Amino acid sequence: MQMRRGREWEGLVTCRRKSGDTLHLPSKVIPVAPYARKNEFYVYTSDTHALDRLDFPSSVDQFHPRGSIKSLRKGSYDIRSLNSDGTQNIIRRHSLVKLHSLTIEAPITRVFNIITAAQENSPAYVAQALEKVLEILRSTELYSPQLISAAPDNNKPVPADPVATDLLGGLLSQGPKPLLSGRRSSSDTATKYSQLPRPSLPLLQQQASAGIRELLAEDMSWNFDVIKLEKITDKRPLVWIGMSLMCRFDIPNTLGCDEQTLQNWLTLIEANYHPDNTYHNSTHAADVLQCTAYFLNQDRIKQLLDPLDVASCLIAAVVHDVDHPGKNSAFLCNTDNELAILYNDLSVLESHHAAVSFKHTHSDDRVNIFKALDRDTYKHIRKSIIDMVLATDMTKHLNVHVSQTKNHAALSFQGARDSPDLMSFGTPENLVIIKRMMIKCADVNNPVRPLHLAIDWAHRIANEYFSQTEEEKKRSLPIVMPQFDRTTCSIPKSQIGFIDFFITDMFDAWDALAEIPELMGHLRRNYQFWKEQEEASKNISSQTPPALTANEEESHEEETTKEMTEKSTGEDTSTQKETS
Ligand code: AMP
Ligand code: ZN
Repeated sequence: MQMRRGREWEGLVTCRRKSGDTLHLPSKVIPVAPYARKNEFYVYTSDTHALDRLDFPSSVDQFHPRGSIKSLRKGSYDIRSLNSDGTQNIIRRHSLVKLHSLTIEAPITRVFNIITAAQENSPAYVAQALEKVLEILRSTELYSPQLISAAPDNNKPVPADPVATDLLGGLLSQGPKPLLSGRRSSSDTATKYSQLPRPSLPLLQQQASAGIRELLAEDMSWNFDVIKLEKITDKRPLVWIGMSLMCRFDIPNTLGCDEQTLQNWLTLIEANYHPDNTYHNSTHAADVLQCTAYFLNQDRIKQLLDPLDVASCLIAAVVHDVDHPGKNSAFLCNTDNELAILYNDLSVLESHHAAVSFKHTHSDDRVNIFKALDRDTYKHIRKSIIDMVLATDMTKHLNVHVSQTKNHAALSFQGARDSPDLMSFGTPENLVIIKRMMIKCADVNNPVRPLHLAIDWAHRIANEYFSQTEEEKKRSLPIVMPQFDRTTCSIPKSQIGFIDFFITDMFDAWDALAEIPELMGHLRRNYQFWKEQEEASKNISSQTPPALTANEEESHEEETTKEMTEKSTGEDTSTQKETS
């Protein structure tokens, strides 16, 4: 029971000697959870020396394991349950000896000791393998997934494709790499809050131009063109699509707030996205929101989530990148940014997005969409929103979410496939995972969109990365993603790497649960497109022109996007070109 609760267990394990005698071995079991919240491993240790020092009389059979009743002191056996025939004294003495001999050591030191001891009595090949284990354990980056290609010699992993490695490095690295060179500045400030909402808009629907109205009529379609909305709303797509979708999902009714408050809130949140970021701006938030709404509208998902879940998913999508500075968390850590200091280099941006969104929401009653909720409901929805925003941290992508979601989808959905009763899968624990999975997929949905949108987003993210690399170079900072250099980067390669390492597995799992075959079709076609682009660029690489300047490159990229789209779809892409 202790172990199931994730707690240590200490007590006597009853063993039998060859002679048939019973032995009680002081033992300890420690749960270890390196990858997930659930315990996956248990370290079992037993003090065999104690056998020589202390031969327990059979009355110790009456011992209760530690944890089954409250013990007097950590590290000693529970003495209250002993007989008063002298056993108690022996045990008390043993406890005191143990207490005096206690030293303070980290659990990992004990793991080292156990492995080193095991090495001594092991055949050479086992000792060698254990040495490798020790080597890995000594690393300080135990939880940073590394990209390893299969190598002929398993002991010597080789790094994979450098672009993909960079993507992983940039996306997954939490904090600074060891500094090889360079100066660090402590004067950066990533955030400049716009404290006040823009003047409140009149109810939007009545104001919408024919173009906006026409576009928003398609707000639940997978082909929805958020880039076009960005353009015709003068870079304020979030408030428009936010009102349209959140009213469609009856959010004012769920939260008990009026439409005007919702509109004020959307306006304020949108004002705190940075329009100068090429990727992490309010159009990205609008895109993630639109995708979340699309997922929420899928039959299977609809059956599982209640109105409060729906509200929390939409709100999380709206706020999930608010006040993004256009640089990733690793950059903030490398520059000793105040946010990295505040959040101890841990999920820096995601923590900031969650915190700042609540801060703004509570800044004024006119924007407080939660103000009518009772305390418990508010706590519930707040917890759910924070959980989802934190789930967008890509540093947790490989070792937590995807494994969990894959297992989840495999376990729950396969069973659910033929079952008319999907509701039985909606346990509170499963719902948390489903909501995390939903926002994660929505956050990186762009490779799964129709090609012209996928291309546009690929260029937007690449440009944001390029700017970061340029600034890192300028300020002699560690370069987080060296492959994302404007003059040399291959965007098709970056997309192939991104799809291979982040998208395919996650969307496979999500498809198993949400049934989204249309999206999977787009993913396959887009992937094929990037492959063809890469092949084509290999063929012409011998005639590579001299490096372009930043401006030249931008217009070159527009042309490339147009060409790429035309080649693939045969469509006239003049409007796409304008927006790319
Ligand atoms: P977020 O910062 O919350 O948007 O998390 C998603 C991460 O995935 C971001 O760091 C993006 O940089 C990254 N990402 C999204 N789409 C792409 C893409 N098409 N290519 C490469 N990286 C991407
Ligand atoms: Zn995002």
